[in-house]
Amino acid sequence: LWSQVLERLQLELSRPTFETWIKTAQAERLENNCLVIITPNPFARNWLQKYYINTIANVVQSILGYPVDIYITVAQGDEVSPIEPRETIQEFASANFMSESLTQKTQTNADLNSKYVFSRFVVGANNRMAHAASLAVAESPGREFNPLFLCGGVGLGKTHLMQAIGHYRWEICPNSKIFYVSCEQFTNDLITAIRKDSMQSFREHYRAADVLLVDDIQFIEGKEYTQEEFFHTFNTLHEAGKQVVIASDRPPNQIPQLQERLSSRFSMGLIADIQPPDLETRMAILQKKAEYENIRLPRDVIEYIATNYKSNIRELEGALIRALAYISIWGLPMTVENITPVLETPSEKVAATPEAILNAVAANFDVSIEDLKGNSRRREISWARQIGMYLMRQHTDLSLPRIGEEFGGKDHTTVLYSCEKITQLKESDRNLENTLRQLSDQINMSSRSQK
Ligand code: ADP
Ligand code: MG
Repeated sequence: LWSQVLERLQLELSRPTFETWIKTAQAERLENNCLVIITPNPFARNWLQKYYINTIANVVQSILGYPVDIYITVAQGDEVSPIEPRETIQEFASANFMSESLTQKTQTNADLNSKYVFSRFVVGANNRMAHAASLAVAESPGREFNPLFLCGGVGLGKTHLMQAIGHYRWEICPNSKIFYVSCEQFTNDLITAIRKDSMQSFREHYRAADVLLVDDIQFIEGKEYTQEEFFHTFNTLHEAGKQVVIASDRPPNQIPQLQERLSSRFSMGLIADIQPPDLETRMAILQKKAEYENIRLPRDVIEYIATNYKSNIRELEGALIRALAYISIWGLPMTVENITPVLETPSEKVAATPEAILNAVAANFDVSIEDLKGNSRRREISWARQIGMYLMRQHTDLSLPRIGEEFGGKDHTTVLYSCEKITQLKESDRNLENTLRQLSDQINMSSRSQK
């Protein structure tokens, strides 16, 4: 039975998923409609339990012809494993290979990621100007480049640079008020303030900043009230000579529905853009990462990974982390051959039907297809709808207007907005990324079985 299950799963799941999580597991016994699966470590168990148990159950049911309960346990003897169950591969990898040396620990602002410092930022032709400007701002805020507007595609280091400015200021001047917020956070704070009738303290809070770092400002598009409020915050800070740094995936004049007065404010300092890194820079980034973590990486491995991940540094790092986890789980030497199974081949796209996508999303979020096609603005429903639109964009060749039609005749700008929003959010949200990955696996599975 298990080999049949494996065979099926191999078809259904993406190769990295299969190689890392499924192949390492074994079926122990099947009795009383209950299948026990053994994994090599608690981490693999959690992972399967969290993301793949339904997929496995479906496959087993389709082979046996009746439903079974799946129990996932850890191999005997590993019970005393020092590895704490971890939520994500990122954390697993951090715990196992990427332990920061103690001396490096610095006192940091809770809102900033301690790794996003200048010393860890690799400078290349693609980001030289943004880096230099950020450093200048960190050294003398509120002077030359105010605001500093960093723009560039997803995963190219905007947040890293922005937070590096925060850390740097913090070190020099521990009492300065450095606020890092995403545009959404700012909006949420604003909404809360309105609801709780505490606008006064909202304003006092933001207008007391010495350095205000606002990430992903493109999401301010169309939010009139946020724009209004941010305009005043910006002016107050700017007039007082306080530094404002803004990050965006595009320049101000390309953010739709951005008030002209904001657009012109954003452009009055320096707009510094970040381009995708060239091969050498990508290799230097991997090299640096490895050095920090005390891992020796053969040059050909570095080159191999760097060649395969071109346009997003987060994905580049993710590939390295997956490779390290895989090597460790299997106890293999680090060679190009050994890591190829877990590196995704670019654009493994399976044509899926819109129905399969709607079904998967509806089931996963516990909403109905009618809801997805309807006009309800209830949060769970519109969230599910946005994810559905994103997945349909990923999994089909349908145009934006056609996708809008599949969702009951929505405008193509709505579809575009959803796709961009989800793309952006998934970059910084592991849970969302995993949900999407799992949904993609499900969609691939049902689309294949329909053929
Ligand atoms: P963005 O905000 O532009 O989407 P991030 O700043 O979150 O991108 O960067 C994504 C990941 O890539 C982070 O882990 C970051 O540390 C890393 N990174 C980006 N640029 C560099 C660089 N030049 N050197 C080292 N690491 C980088
Ligand atoms: Mg970012």
